[in-house]
This record gives sequence, structure tokens and C-alpha cells, in this order.
Amino acid sequence: MIHREHDKVLRALLGPAGPELSCEECFEHLDRYVELEVGGADADEAIPGMRAHLQGCPACHEDHASLRSFVLSEGSDSR
Ligand SMILES: [Zn+2]
Repeated sequence: MIHREHDKVLRALLGPAGPELSCEECFEHLDRYVELEVGGADADEAIPGMRAHLQGCPACHEDHASLRSFVLSEGSDSR
């Protein structure tokens, strides 16, 4: 019984089971993620685990920030 409770708490802490992105996968999807994000689509739903990785990984967070500002400046340029 105690063990069960412990398991429940642990699951709550870990959140819903989902794919966990590695830096490599993060990098692979970054273009699309930023495109969706800038386009106003639900990027987090399209690429689950991405936001969590960006929040936990300074290197990818940095990449994401610079790519996003690049895409934003490019977008306003071509319109
Ligand atoms: Zn990373």
C-alpha cells in the first residue's frame, strides 16, 4: 500500500509519460519548431518534449532563441 502511494507521487512528479528529446533530436526539429511557433501554430503539440528540453538545456535554449529572432527578422523582411 505504501509502495503504491509512493509510485503515484513519483508519477505525478515526473508528469505524463512522453518522449524525451536529446540535444540531437532537439537540433533536428528546431527549424520546424520555430517555424510553427512563429507562425502561431501549436509547436508544443507538434513536437512534444521540445519545450521541456529547451527549458532544461541552456545550449539548445540559446540556439532556439537565436534561430527564432533570425526567423522573425527574416519574416518581417520578406513581407
Ligand atoms: Zn539540448
